[in-house]
Amino acid sequence: MPAIDYKEQLLPNLKKYFGYDSFRPQQEAIISSVLEKKDAIVIMPTGGGKSICYQLPSLLFPKSTLVVSPLIALMKDQVDGCIANGIAAAYFNSSQSTEEQQNILLKISKAELKLLYVAPESMASLEHILNETYISCIAIDEAHCISSWGHDFRPSYQQLGFLKKSMPNTPIIALTATADKATRQDIAEQLGIISAEQFITSFDRKNISLTVRPADGRVDQIISFIEDRPNSSGIIYCLSRKTTEQLVDRLKAKKMNAQAYHAGLSFDERTKVQEDFIFDKTKIVCATVAFGMGIDKSNVRWVIHYNMPKNIEGYYQEIGRAGRDGVAASALLFHSYADVIQLQRFTEGASNQEVQLAKLDRMKQFSEATTCRRKILLSYFGELLAENCGNCDVCKSPPQVFDGTIIAQKILSTIARLNEKEAIGTIIDVLRGAKNAAILEKGLEKVKTYGIGNDISWKDWQHYIIQLINQGYIEIAFQFRNALHLTDFSKNVLFNGAKVSLTKPIVVVETIGNPKEKTKKSSSKGALFQRLKALRHSIALEENIPAYLVFSDATLQ
Ligand code: ADP
Ligand code: MG
Ligand code: ZN
Repeated sequence: MPAIDYKEQLLPNLKKYFGYDSFRPQQEAIISSVLEKKDAIVIMPTGGGKSICYQLPSLLFPKSTLVVSPLIALMKDQVDGCIANGIAAAYFNSSQSTEEQQNILLKISKAELKLLYVAPESMASLEHILNETYISCIAIDEAHCISSWGHDFRPSYQQLGFLKKSMPNTPIIALTATADKATRQDIAEQLGIISAEQFITSFDRKNISLTVRPADGRVDQIISFIEDRPNSSGIIYCLSRKTTEQLVDRLKAKKMNAQAYHAGLSFDERTKVQEDFIFDKTKIVCATVAFGMGIDKSNVRWVIHYNMPKNIEGYYQEIGRAGRDGVAASALLFHSYADVIQLQRFTEGASNQEVQLAKLDRMKQFSEATTCRRKILLSYFGELLAENCGNCDVCKSPPQVFDGTIIAQKILSTIARLNEKEAIGTIIDVLRGAKNAAILEKGLEKVKTYGIGNDISWKDWQHYIIQLINQGYIEIAFQFRNALHLTDFSKNVLFNGAKVSLTKPIVVVETIGNPKEKTKKSSSKGALFQRLKALRHSIALEENIPAYLVFSDATLQ
């Protein structure tokens, strides 16, 4: 295919098959790259328009494009959508009869299908057609599922490495909405496409305001939040089925139009809730995580996290379901220590527990941040926001800021002197000149910066390092035992005198009782203990978690 040929066909095909007049950012570059038979990794937010990146090229390729997609439930919708647009498409999965499956294989052999959607589990049955006689292009949707660094690991995705081996000249395009650097690297390695170009479109969804609040009294907070936004559509994410149902009851008691959605409902019941929501018959859905995947509703005005999500990828994906029409939307997250503990428990026994805990930690850091939250979110995905966003709670009521360049230099040079091999605890121990066994065994007391920071408490160092991570000056390498790594931005601080702003640590005590009476520093020990007792009471009531687990150093300081 000579270059000029297809380039001229892109816009007309976009118009003819999809009805759009122009491409969104990156789509055209991605499509061109695929048509040039190059491998690509595409990171584009939910709703950004990933499908067109392989659907449009499929029209111009002579043979079929194989689309690997994890959810059988969504395949039918996608295929129906293609057929409605006049694109010959089909899916292949275990829900079909042998006859249906044979029929599809026949169509492939006659090059009558442009797109074939398949679940990774069903690949074995496709053995005969998985070669370059029949396949022109391979798309791996939700590609983060291949990586145990990702947030939704699926073992069946791990066998996909054979695709490149058996079809070395067929371009592979791997697509996902959420993958941090380690995950992207892992995707590339496992699929055998290490030289693939990475297309990362901006993750910034400026129209979504970000707010985090302490969790107690959250039902009342939610009710007044919704009362401020009458008739708007929104989703409330909860950790348990029980919570979704209890919350629906509370909202209905306030005459609010809400329904629950969770895995305990039948397929038909869930479909009904989805449809009611899409067609505005239900305004509010209280859901466990599965809700919203693949739902294309543009006027969701807000997303509330009743419970803390287990990682930033999940949080980002879920809030991304708000405001797809570009109009102002809100994301409200409730932060609770009880949730953190529960989420930690959920990781027990997982083969990648360490990764999951590290990701949960980042989620917690985001919730406790005292710097622009959007900067944190974007830096998590490897994007640097030049200015504070002005549309998050921290930007709207900022904490006290000071010139933290010297502190930052101390931290960054310690990381450098430890050859970017140590995790946060060791960095702080070196700064503070700790004499514990771990330090002495490794001979770290000889490091040049050893003990230069014993005037600052352990907790405060931690606070500053987390800020540097959140601002993009440091990366946590999950794959190297959470070692802290420098970034290009931190090199500017070390070598080019770039200034760093930090905020003073604040002691956060979860608000008790009246949410309007915001977090105050208790003056007397007695008062603090009253607060802790009340905290224990509210947590034990709500989540059945022994309260002694909840008192951290921070609470008692
Ligand atoms: P993703 O898979 O990235 O979540 P989709 O591919 O499902 O997103 O696309 C989301 C929505 O955006 C769909 O309704 C799609 O038709 C629409 N869309 C995609 N590309 C364009 C475009 N160039 N112009 C207008 N709308 C588009
Ligand atoms: Mg998609
Ligand atoms: Zn901000």
